[in-house]
Amino acid sequence: MKKECISCKVDISAVNNSVIFDCPSCGKVEIVRCGKCRGLSTDYRCPNCDFVGP
Ligand SMILES: [Zn+2]
Ligand SMILES: [Zn+2]
Repeated sequence: MKKECISCKVDISAVNNSVIFDCPSCGKVEIVRCGKCRGLSTDYRCPNCDFVGP
């Protein structure tokens, strides 16, 4: 299944250093971040609990 970065919607299989983790606040949503957004410290927002993290 294709995974898209939560911030920029890129297919993370095409980007190195991408990460997938459960929301640190609610733990119910899988947060997908590409290596580029990690490098830029782009904010992400959990669609379930509105947690915002770097
Ligand atoms: Zn991204
Ligand atoms: Zn959450």
